[in-house]
Amino acid sequence: MSCRLLSADLGTTSLKVMILNGGGQVEGSVSEPVHTYTDGENHEQKPTEWWQSFGKACRTLESRGIGLDVDGVVCTGQMEDFIPLKNGIAETAVLYSDIRGSKGLTKRHLSSDAVAAFTGNDWRATTPLMKWLADEFPEQWDHVLFGSKDYLIYRLTGASVCDPVNGTVTGMMNIHTRAWEEQLWQGSGITRNQLPRLLEPEEVAGYVLKEAASKTGIPAGTPVYCGLGDGGAVTLGASVHGDNDEGYAYTGTTGWTAVPADTLTLSEEGSVFHLAAPQQGRFIKIMPLINMGNVHQWAVHTWCGGDFEAFEKLTAEPDSMPGSLLFIPYLNGERNPVIDEKARGSFIGIDGQVTHGHMARAVLEGLAFSLKQTFVQIGTTSSTLFLVGGGTKSRAFRQTVADVFQRSVQVSAEQELLASFGAAACGFRAIHKCSWKDAARAMQSVGEEDIIVTPDVSKKEELERKERLFIGAAGRMRGLFET
Ligand code: ADP
Repeated sequence: MSCRLLSADLGTTSLKVMILNGGGQVEGSVSEPVHTYTDGENHEQKPTEWWQSFGKACRTLESRGIGLDVDGVVCTGQMEDFIPLKNGIAETAVLYSDIRGSKGLTKRHLSSDAVAAFTGNDWRATTPLMKWLADEFPEQWDHVLFGSKDYLIYRLTGASVCDPVNGTVTGMMNIHTRAWEEQLWQGSGITRNQLPRLLEPEEVAGYVLKEAASKTGIPAGTPVYCGLGDGGAVTLGASVHGDNDEGYAYTGTTGWTAVPADTLTLSEEGSVFHLAAPQQGRFIKIMPLINMGNVHQWAVHTWCGGDFEAFEKLTAEPDSMPGSLLFIPYLNGERNPVIDEKARGSFIGIDGQVTHGHMARAVLEGLAFSLKQTFVQIGTTSSTLFLVGGGTKSRAFRQTVADVFQRSVQVSAEQELLASFGAAACGFRAIHKCSWKDAARAMQSVGEEDIIVTPDVSKKEELERKERLFIGAAGRMRGLFET
């Protein structure tokens, strides 16, 4: 089965555009930086810059002799954006990390239980930003888009769409029917015709317009599929690696453990989040962590001036670790299993022998213990842990995770492209009418072998003892800084 697809991943920090074919070959890929405008609580990007970068990336591929006469275009990207449009023009994209909207969170018409029954999630994971936009800037927009990739689709085809994965995080979609649920936003002043059309990831959103064709070089009339938010795309991309019916762990700036699920389980302890899965009737259960790569990055800056390689060497310096030294990584508060936005990080058990090298390694251990808590909570039993995200670039971290989990850790050599592969699977499935599994398999790169890291079994007992200490100490952080 063959086809050529253009796949784009518009993330928070970069846009990646690639051409790949059903033989698993990446014919070419181009990356462009994405700029975030930060001012206090405001975190915004400029949709027109996204479009410029997309056009530039396409033209760069073309200049390398890679034909853009593809069978289809599929995009993925950051979720939970709010992109208000007025007369077809989007001045700004308010990012998921922008907290201005949280002030707009007011009473709902529905009970918390009713919201959870519709959305599959805690009522707080709702539409504060949307409400804020409706209240503060009612005349400044006539409709809205929710994802960066949806803006690319809008410019390519003129269609306003949203996929069910990203639809989940708006808090306005019924996770069971994958349709907008008006009762969820009743009283907010928002009307249904201001929302994009919800489509399945493999449905055609529209066809490349003449104007978009002259900007990008993609022939007019090329089908553009709806695609899906990056949370779903990474899950699809990861689904063909190792034991992935059992899920994977993500170690980017933040972290999470994700597993596919057939049912919803609202947890009392910790905050499970559910996304609608690409597959209808299925879900992705996610246990999020606020602190992961941000903590690693802080440690690298603090001890090694931002030099990742120097930090790797520093963690390798100590011959052994003091049995009492622990690091609790809650630099920005935490959500799992301790739910406390005021919690902060701490070193515990320091004695006169502790060096910078010990402390650096304790940071990695603390992150691995924290990640393991989400893994255990979510109930995965796989013998191999598939690890995704920028944190996998650190050899020391990969090894520490393997040692703490006492499981083999598997990392894709092309993990930065997993979301793009996942998006492309939607186009492949649309064209070949095959299963999700077959589509994901066809659209993974046949390039390099995965990296496998095996655990050091001699550390098992000591790390299990430390893990018990960590669980006890981390639990005591809850409420500690409440006053
Ligand atoms: P995001 O979730 O923002 O997309 P990434 O997946 O890019 O994040 O991961 C960012 C994290 O990757 C950083 O916080 C850092 O921990 C880690 N990282 C980035 N570059 C390196 C590197 N060269 N070596 C080791 N770790 C790295």
